[in-house]
Amino acid sequence: MASALSDKLSRLVKEMRGQARITEANVQDMLREVRMALLEADVALPVVRDFIARVKDKAMGHEVVGSLNPGQALVGIVNRELVATMGEGVSDINLAAQPPAVILMAGLQGAGKTTTTAKLAKHLIEKRRKKVLTVSGDVYRPAAIEQLRTVTKQAGAEWFPSSPEQKPLDIARAALDHARKQYFDVLLVDTAGRLAIDEVLMREIRDLHAALNPVETLFIVDAMQGQDAVNTAKAFREALPLTGIILTKMDGDSRGGAALSVRQITGAPIKFAGVSEKIDGLEVFDAERHAGRILG
Ligand code: GDP
Repeated sequence: MASALSDKLSRLVKEMRGQARITEANVQDMLREVRMALLEADVALPVVRDFIARVKDKAMGHEVVGSLNPGQALVGIVNRELVATMGEGVSDINLAAQPPAVILMAGLQGAGKTTTTAKLAKHLIEKRRKKVLTVSGDVYRPAAIEQLRTVTKQAGAEWFPSSPEQKPLDIARAALDHARKQYFDVLLVDTAGRLAIDEVLMREIRDLHAALNPVETLFIVDAMQGQDAVNTAKAFREALPLTGIILTKMDGDSRGGAALSVRQITGAPIKFAGVSEKIDGLEVFDAERHAGRILG
């Protein structure tokens, strides 16, 4: 595999030529390059440390030390470890529930929740042939409710009205009742987000979770947040039993480190990637391709 990292490792290995065999110290030098590559990709430092420790365990065995091409061998290990970390347990949206299957969308304001709610509605209609209802519990921003209405229409789904005078829990219960009576397969619940972690809002979304018993609780996170995504991910992981992640704005992020950080911190699978502002800009997350992006 050709990458910026494999080029660097090849150069290092050339300098080692003439030695009888690759030593542990050589592997340490190579691991330093891997560490740099991950930091340049904007992976969070604690996540890098953990990752390097796992790679080191494998590299210190025969795989690298005994290899004819140690640089390539190490890149191979790094690549496999990246894919294993980011890709384990990846699956489509789980709808295994008594209909309507409820999907709760959680994340900071601006992360792309509303846009992604509509993208997901379109995906579920077109790929899974489901009847989908959306509702907004964002009673703090009337514009957010209107925005969901507009994008839901574009998605070809139905929208359940809500208003800033209502309580989010009442909205959610009314929407669930409507979805049941009208035989919807899926209810997508968009929620309020603030610009920073906020205890009141976290309590609100926990209450929503308890009342709705969603089959999926998705954490929507902006890939361009890079290593800052870690703190957001920690806060949401502590507040909610997350079942999946959707990384948005991948089109604007060339480094790709957030995927590794958020996956490792939450333990939840990355299900989809947002790749444009448009309603069809949602792709199934591809760990293999993303690993190539991180390695540069
Ligand atoms: P919310 O506050 O979490 O509901 O975020 P919005 O859905 O309103 O999205 C915030 C901004 O990000 C909007 O301008 C969206 O068009 C944009 N956005 C959302 N997802 C993506 C994506 O995958 N790629 C790009 N380029 N923009 C996105």
